[in-house]
Amino acid sequence: MSAPLARTVDVAVVGGGIVGCACALAARQAGLGVTLYEAQRVGAGVTAAGMGHLVVIDEDPAEFALARLSMRLWREWSGWNAIERRTTGTLWIAETAAQHDAARAKLARLAAAGLRADWLDEQALRAAEPRLAHDLVGALRVPDDEVAYGPEMAARLAADLRRAGGRVEEMSPVAALTDDGLLLADGTRVGAGNVLLAAGCDSVRLWPGAAPLRLRPRKGQLAITDRYPGYIRHALVEMGYIDSAHGDADEAVAFNAQPRVSGQVLLGSTRSYRDSSAAVDAALLGRMVRRATRFLPDIGSLQMLRSWSGLRPATPDGRPLIGRIAAHASRPAGAASHWVASGHEGLGLTTATGTARLWLDLLLGREPSIDPAPYAPERSFGGTP
Ligand SMILES: Cc1cc2nc3c(=O)[nH]c(=O)nc-3n(C[C@H](O)[C@H](O)[C@H](O)COP(=O)(O)OP(=O)(O)OC[C@H]3O[C@@H](n4cnc5c(N)ncnc54)[C@H](O)[C@@H]3O)c2cc1C
Repeated sequence: MSAPLARTVDVAVVGGGIVGCACALAARQAGLGVTLYEAQRVGAGVTAAGMGHLVVIDEDPAEFALARLSMRLWREWSGWNAIERRTTGTLWIAETAAQHDAARAKLARLAAAGLRADWLDEQALRAAEPRLAHDLVGALRVPDDEVAYGPEMAARLAADLRRAGGRVEEMSPVAALTDDGLLLADGTRVGAGNVLLAAGCDSVRLWPGAAPLRLRPRKGQLAITDRYPGYIRHALVEMGYIDSAHGDADEAVAFNAQPRVSGQVLLGSTRSYRDSSAAVDAALLGRMVRRATRFLPDIGSLQMLRSWSGLRPATPDGRPLIGRIAAHASRPAGAASHWVASGHEGLGLTTATGTARLWLDLLLGREPSIDPAPYAPERSFGGTP
C-alpha cells in the first residue's frame, strides 16, 4: 500500500532554477498555495552557469514577444534594484557588409517595436569601445539590455516566495510525477492540484507525457578574468552569435564578452551537443578565446581566473515548452494537472518572468499575455532530432 499524502498544495513546482523560482513566485502572488522542490540548492543547475545577459533577442517573433514581456516584468519586480546588475547595453558587432545589413534590419525591427537602438559606425564604435579591433564595420547599440547575476536572481525570487508564504524545499529531489501530485525520492507523497515540471535538462527523466520530451543538453563554456574595471563598457556580441545560437551545429563558438559589476570580464561562449559532461573541454575553450582575440586583440594579456560549463536545455526549434502536458489516456478523471516550463536553452535568465506569466495565464484560464501556440508542449518539431 502506498504512503498517505504528506501534504496537499495547489501547485507543486519541480526545480528551483530561475524558471521554477519565477513560476513559483508568480503563482504564490496570484494567491495559490505553492511548494517548490529542488534536488540541490536553489539556482544550482544551469542557472548558476549562465552569462546573465538579459537581452531582447528579436529574430524569432515568438522569442521577441517572450523576451519583451519578460524584460518588462523583470523591471517591475521588487528585487530588480537589489541584485547584482548593470545596464550595460549590448553592442552587436558587424565584421562584414552582410552583417552590417543584418544589423540594420535588426535595428529596424527593434525600432518598429518601440525599443531604443542606434547604429555606430567604425569611428563611433572605436570611441565607444577603444579596445575593440580597428577593422570592424560598426555595431548596433541596444542601450537598455542588462548584465545580471543569475544565481542571485534565483535566490532572491525564492526568498520572495518564502516571504509571500510559499515553501521552498531544498535538497528534496522529486522521484516522479504522479496522478495525485508527486513522489519525493525519500518516499513522501505530496498531493497537488497542479504540478509544474521546471527541472531544466532533468525534465526529460521526470517527463510524464504520452509523447517523448524532445529536449537535449547543449553544453556551454565560459571563462572569467581578474578585475580590470573599464576594460570594456558594454556587453559585446558578434553578429554571428545569432547564427550560432539558432543553428543546430554539433559544435560552435561565438564571441560574447561582458563587463561585470566586479570589474571582471566574462567571456563566452561555446555550444556543443557532443558532450554532456561537466568537464571543461580545453580545446573548445581555446577556440573560444582565439575567437575573442579577433575582436579584443589584447584579451590574451588578461589573467583568466576560472572557466566552467553548463548544460542548456535545448528543444529542436530553440523555444521553451510552456503549457499543459498532454496526459496518457489512462490517467484517472480528477488527476493532478501536469505542466511544463523547460527548454529555455541560452535565454532562460532573460525569459523566466515571461514564462511564469504565460504559464500562470494558462493555469488560471486568463487571456494569455502573449500567443501560447509557439510554446505549446505538443507542438510539432517536424523531422529534426
Ligand atoms: C554558458 C551559458 C551561458 C548562458 N548565458 C545566458 C545569458 O547570457 N542569458 C540568458 O538569458 N540565459 C543564458 N543561459 C541560459 C540559462 O542559464 C538557462 O536557460 C536557464 O538558467 C534555465 O533555467 P532552468 O530553471 O530551466 O534550469 P536549471 O537552472 O537547470 O534549473 C532546474 C533545476 O531543477 C533541479 N532538479 C533537477 N532534477 C530535479 C528533481 N528530480 N527534483 C527536484 N529538482 C530537480 C535542478 O537541480 C535545477 O536546480 C546560458 C547558459 C549557459 C550554459
